[in-house]
Amino acid sequence: MLKQSMNATMVSIRKVLFPDMCFVCKEFIDVDKPTSIDDLVEMERDDAFKTVLKDVLCESCLKTFTSVTPPYCSRCGAMFKSKTAENHLCPNCIDKKSKIGKIRSVGIYEEALLELVHKFKYNGKVGLADTFGKMLFLLYMDMVKDESYDMIIPIPLHRSRFRKRGFNQAYLVLKNWNQYTQSVIINRDVLLRTRKTETQIGLSNIERRRNLKNAFEAKDSVKNRRILLVDDVYTTGATVESCAGILAKKGADVIDVITMARTGNLHK
Ligand SMILES: [Zn+2]
Ligand SMILES: [Zn+2]
Repeated sequence: MLKQSMNATMVSIRKVLFPDMCFVCKEFIDVDKPTSIDDLVEMERDDAFKTVLKDVLCESCLKTFTSVTPPYCSRCGAMFKSKTAENHLCPNCIDKKSKIGKIRSVGIYEEALLELVHKFKYNGKVGLADTFGKMLFLLYMDMVKDESYDMIIPIPLHRSRFRKRGFNQAYLVLKNWNQYTQSVIINRDVLLRTRKTETQIGLSNIERRRNLKNAFEAKDSVKNRRILLVDDVYTTGATVESCAGILAKKGADVIDVITMARTGNLHK
């Protein structure tokens, strides 16, 4: 009893000294005890994502978050405007030759989520890894309803970029997953970025593909494996397609992708 009230006192002292702030607008926020991963898994996805984000966003920033919800393209995960349609292939995917089975993302890459991703990647707010890791894990739990994966692979950075940034954001978000489940193994050494590439920002689709040519290499151990790739943002898909091409060449059986965010181009 005494220990409990001591803990409560410590928490309030900490809150006075180091109040929690919205990562986007710096508004003070009142952070509750985090909801357990088991409870989050049971919740509806949109509710679960918002529950996780409440620990890092104020109410008004949270309102700018949109989760990716069905109906969406059964391959690339792009959302459809009509809320009554079933999941089906979008115009971009109908004739597309791709080695990727499906791509799913947590939310639309805009407003608060875009800010959070930028703060995480470029401003060293690595504390957000836990938030992103939880949301991606919820997405993973949905993915394993249809497919079981032997390998979970974060998209690698070239070692020079890794040295500069100090961490690989895609790996960092996965680090906590072994607290949620024992059955997940993260494979960091089967897909390598062997060539340094220019930043993709501002490049056209074709330029991106050219830029990524021969940028990745995969080990033979991916043969016949069912692989889930993890990246932070899905925009043109050039990076994940490039990785998938290499993995498929080495005989990978299934290649799916999950990302934190995706661009929000809606199809009719
Ligand atoms: Zn805010
Ligand atoms: Zn599509």
